[in-house]
Amino acid sequence: MVWPPVRVRKDKGRIRRLLRSWVLLKCPGCCEGTLFYGLFSMHQNCPLCSLKFEREQGYFVGAIYLNYAATVAVAVPGYFFLDYLLNISLFAQLVIWIAFTLVFPLLFFRHSRSLWLALDTLFNPVETPVAGVGEPPSRAGKVPSGDRGQS
Ligand SMILES: [Zn+2]
Repeated sequence: MVWPPVRVRKDKGRIRRLLRSWVLLKCPGCCEGTLFYGLFSMHQNCPLCSLKFEREQGYFVGAIYLNYAATVAVAVPGYFFLDYLLNISLFAQLVIWIAFTLVFPLLFFRHSRSLWLALDTLFNPVETPVAGVGEPPSRAGKVPSGDRGQS
């Protein structure tokens, strides 16, 4: 048994709420706190509900994959679309799509991290402590294992 007991928040509007938090770059836990405080600077925890965004070291590597996938998903069909529609030269296509693959990941950076958080929250929901349940008697007075080494 996990201690303290946790409750996984699963309700009917969860997917809509996570979509909203992704698009608006909000915390997937409370849907109100902002994820970023600068262009590329991210809060470590939600300013409102204190949800930890980077759950473990290297957590946002998945967001890099999402960003790469989104870039390819736009660039490859875009190449064929322009080739079919405008029949422009290969050199012009290369200039367009190399520039695109350099700029688009920067523009999509924040949304890829937000999407990663939303997907992770969807498939690995946020656990919140059950209200009114404290420490078990055998561990009373001891420092919880999750708080060691933190200041
Ligand atoms: Zn929050």
